[in-house]
Amino acid sequence: MTWKEDMNIKFVNPYNFISLGNECKRKSFDNYINNKELLTGYIECELENLTPIFIPNTTNENAFTDNEKYKSYDFFSYDYIREQKRTSEYSEPVIPASEIRGVIRSAYEALTDSCMSTIDDGNILSKRTTIPAKPGLLKKENGEWKLYEAERLMIKVKDCSIDNAQNFKDILSKYNEGDKIYFKRGIEYKNYRIYTISDISNINVSGYEEGYIHFGEDFIKKHHESIFKLGKMIKDIEITIDDINRLAGLIDIYTELNKNNRKYEKFNDLLTSKDFKNGKRVLPVYYSTYKKDDKNYVYLSPACIGREIFSNRLSDILKNQGGYQPCSSRENLCEACALFGFTGDGGENNALASRLRFTDAKIKKRKNRNEDYYDKICILPELASPKISATEFYLERPYDDRGKTCDMWNYDYAFNWNYKDKNEQDEQIEQFDEYIPKIRGRKFYWHSKKAKFVYGQNERNCKIRPLKKNNVFSFRVYFDAITEDELNKLVWTLNIGDNNNTNCHKIGRGKPIGFGTVKIRINKIIKRDISFDSDTISYKLNDYKIDLKQNRPFDYNKKNVQEFLKITDFEKAPRIINYPIGEDKTKPDKPNSVASHQWFIGNKQISYGHKDAKIKASGTKPIIYKTLPYILDKDITLNKLYKERN
Ligand SMILES: [Zn+2]
Repeated sequence: MTWKEDMNIKFVNPYNFISLGNECKRKSFDNYINNKELLTGYIECELENLTPIFIPNTTNENAFTDNEKYKSYDFFSYDYIREQKRTSEYSEPVIPASEIRGVIRSAYEALTDSCMSTIDDGNILSKRTTIPAKPGLLKKENGEWKLYEAERLMIKVKDCSIDNAQNFKDILSKYNEGDKIYFKRGIEYKNYRIYTISDISNINVSGYEEGYIHFGEDFIKKHHESIFKLGKMIKDIEITIDDINRLAGLIDIYTELNKNNRKYEKFNDLLTSKDFKNGKRVLPVYYSTYKKDDKNYVYLSPACIGREIFSNRLSDILKNQGGYQPCSSRENLCEACALFGFTGDGGENNALASRLRFTDAKIKKRKNRNEDYYDKICILPELASPKISATEFYLERPYDDRGKTCDMWNYDYAFNWNYKDKNEQDEQIEQFDEYIPKIRGRKFYWHSKKAKFVYGQNERNCKIRPLKKNNVFSFRVYFDAITEDELNKLVWTLNIGDNNNTNCHKIGRGKPIGFGTVKIRINKIIKRDISFDSDTISYKLNDYKIDLKQNRPFDYNKKNVQEFLKITDFEKAPRIINYPIGEDKTKPDKPNSVASHQWFIGNKQISYGHKDAKIKASGTKPIIYKTLPYILDKDITLNKLYKERN
């Protein structure tokens, strides 16, 4: 059974990334404004939605449904609609200022190559791995965590034709995770170099060995649980509190992923117990190691094959990638933070108020009846968007200095499968030297000329009432003491270079299904002038002229500007926007046989994966084949992948 590319079915992933430059340039706030004429006033803007848009009124989360479980929302308005059934009621739509501000700030950051102010660093990066980890035992000695090698033995809890020992299920049910027991060694299981257990005891009996019980992962067809026998201390790895915290975070992720699965409950009880923290109890774990800057690092897990939680966070990666982590001091600010403001982590120098204020956008061209503003109630499908763990989309493919790439990469390390020796005792992977993970850039969505409306009974998805296309709103952007350069850049960012071109922003929900396209036009710019007449100060509002056709504050030769112009062009929107399409034809009856995640499975099991690969890709030795195309590539499409019987 093999995965193949379907050359006739192509798709363009709904989002792509605008590149980061070589370095995030910063200077002190004073250096932005000192010795410059400062302008105060407002920009009168008009906003037209060229596709349906949706922004929820969150005062009622059951606007169209009775079912508490599945939410439904009406479009944003000033009306407080709690408890109302909205099926036949309509309010005048409003686009909240915060939504417009967010869109304009992201665009301004991309165009000025500023910091990535909105990265969510609370999200732990994790990914499933197929590299089997090694059994170990973790304990605290003299206030320090120590990791020991362990031998794993199998203790029978279900019928098994190979292991003829008694069934220990009832006996084991009286024990807890990590309990110490004494065992008598049984036969070797097949030729796996793993031994079974023929008897256990609470007390030390002559000829018995000492071990610790580990419940959890079902290994080798669910016949057995594990006993770990203490081995040598591992000296070249320092276990820190971060490692312990990441292990706790991993349990949270497992619990989150399998809502009803309590497999690691006992493990978690032991991990969080006083006795473990005091060194009175030992914790069976699986561990794998990787090297960085000649130091050994470790992943700990309750499972032999499971998830790894990466030690790098997004902000760490951005620090190493030109310093694009969020700004944290007024003395050192990127262009976007200088204009839009920033909040650091407390302290006088660690915050700056915005010099811009956006207003809500209100309907400019009124319709006779409020209901005429809206499309029919439809479904906002919960699309399986590729997650940040999809490193083939979110991270750059690494190359060494000879131009060779590798089989797999993630947020901490990159590697090739070890193909030289199939001996299982050898390390399974060869790490890629001097790997530095690099993110692809800032996420933006392609426009789509055809919004996909989904109707029907699927109660699992959120029901919404979107705004019909071609409604016109007006709003203002007030600016306070900004420079001419900043005003020119702000104006260009708002109308993307011209009132009459087809470059548009994307706002609100449903971006992957073609919602959210808005064109912003500048109607006028008003500058507030102060005049001093004898004793009185008076303000005058005057028209401020910017030749919108000649306004070119950004360098069109720069990659980020070209990428921005291409991905925001509504007229040239790709026609075949879809999340990755993968189909497992060997399981046609399974509900998930056609799904986005199937593409990601297939993409790591296609032939040799890449030109430098030494082995064929497989389920246990995945190799990344395609990565997300770049915005400026001539061909931005990917092919459907499918699996069929040979
Ligand atoms: Zn910044």
